[in-house]
Amino acid sequence: MGERIPIKQVSTPSNKIQIREQKGYFQRIRTGMNSLLVLLFLLTPFVSYQGRQAILFNISEQQFIFFGTTLWPQDFTILAWIFIAAAFLLFFATVFWGRVWCGFLCPQTAWTFMFVWVETRLEGSRNQRITLDRAPWSLKKVYKRVGKHLLWGIIALLTGCSFIAYFIPARTLYPEILTFTGSFWVTTWVWFFALCTYLNAGWMREQMCLHCCPYSRFQSVMFDANTKTVTYDATRGESRGPRKRKQVTDLGDCVDCHLCVDVCPTGIDIRNGLQYECINCGACVDACNQTMEKFGYAPNLISYISENSLKNTPKPIFTSLKFIGYGIASLIMFTVIGLDIANRDNIQLNVIRDRQNLYRETLDSQIENSYTLKIRNKTQERRQYQIFIDNEHIYQLVGNTKVIILPGEQLDYPITVLAKQDRLNASRSPINFTIREMDDVGSKNNWVSQSSNFFSPL
Ligand code: SF4
Ligand code: SF4
Repeated sequence: MGERIPIKQVSTPSNKIQIREQKGYFQRIRTGMNSLLVLLFLLTPFVSYQGRQAILFNISEQQFIFFGTTLWPQDFTILAWIFIAAAFLLFFATVFWGRVWCGFLCPQTAWTFMFVWVETRLEGSRNQRITLDRAPWSLKKVYKRVGKHLLWGIIALLTGCSFIAYFIPARTLYPEILTFTGSFWVTTWVWFFALCTYLNAGWMREQMCLHCCPYSRFQSVMFDANTKTVTYDATRGESRGPRKRKQVTDLGDCVDCHLCVDVCPTGIDIRNGLQYECINCGACVDACNQTMEKFGYAPNLISYISENSLKNTPKPIFTSLKFIGYGIASLIMFTVIGLDIANRDNIQLNVIRDRQNLYRETLDSQIENSYTLKIRNKTQERRQYQIFIDNEHIYQLVGNTKVIILPGEQLDYPITVLAKQDRLNASRSPINFTIREMDDVGSKNNWVSQSSNFFSPL
């Protein structure tokens, strides 16, 4: 009979990852960036500009307000391009800094670390939490657990409110939610996002990165030999083994303290090589540097380093074709978007011909065509417009040609055009309408034109 291979338990009984809190250079950067991100997310809905919420996706009025600029559904291609350009900018950063987004900027990481921070404050260090997990239920355990889940719940509810405050003005949403007077759907969405946050940051944590996030799977495509990733220097570290401080050994620099594994939010051992689970948060870099300092060894046994640098053949990042390609693509996209936004019209015009009659003949032998001008005031102020027509020696507008349109409103304005038969030389002639914005003294500002056709019996 063969011998049994001994099985060693290496994780907590529930296989739950209990992260050890780590301090250090990269953790200070991560905490600072995460805090900034969370604060921006929570406070932005309270920023006003020109008397309105500065950033608001107003679904009921179908408009996106961004610091005084209003985007309408027909402008949403700009938003789509902004997202695509931002993606290219992220790819550009990834070529050089690897998974910098995942480790330092991703909301998943920010909220997970925030929930772990609360857990550590209430239930203690990693070892104390593992002991608490194993301990039978007692008043102390109930008290700690209730406190933790209550605080997680408050943070989750605040997150849900803050997310919906980008769609419903924050100044009305928060009082409604806190006094339970919000509408059914608004309240449902707030609680839905609160529940998602609670489950995600409190329970799922690294499972989202490992199993749900598509970005973690494909971003290695952007890596090349110049990309900095968190790497264990095996040549220097192996063979690993425990020892006393200042003890002279034949071993490598890794003292096998296991700290790099204990601090890892995804529970991996970076000494096994580059793994897709690694979010490049740098916690193991800080932990290992702390150990190296204690043992009097040089730092950076684990560090952010590129494959080329590890082989002592570093190359400038500007030699990377991916870096140059993504950089140029981002630059072009942001330039085009900037020009597009700068040249955006504040007026929208659609000319619709009367579908009932191609034309009518008047008693004095003139030809009459009817149109509906759909004019939208895309600004946030009440505006006055004047309707013009090209070739006024042929065509004549009938009726009032001045209209006033309220902010964000669309006016369907019926208008008739007259033409003398003897001035027309075809049964179908092009005709051009222009809408000009007029200020209080009547001078012309923005304008927009659209063509249509004028029909006659010729
Ligand atoms: S291996 Fe290191 S950098 Fe990667 S996720 Fe774990 S702690 Fe963070
Ligand atoms: S923290 Fe550093 S020394 Fe400790 S086990 Fe990890 S690599 Fe080895």
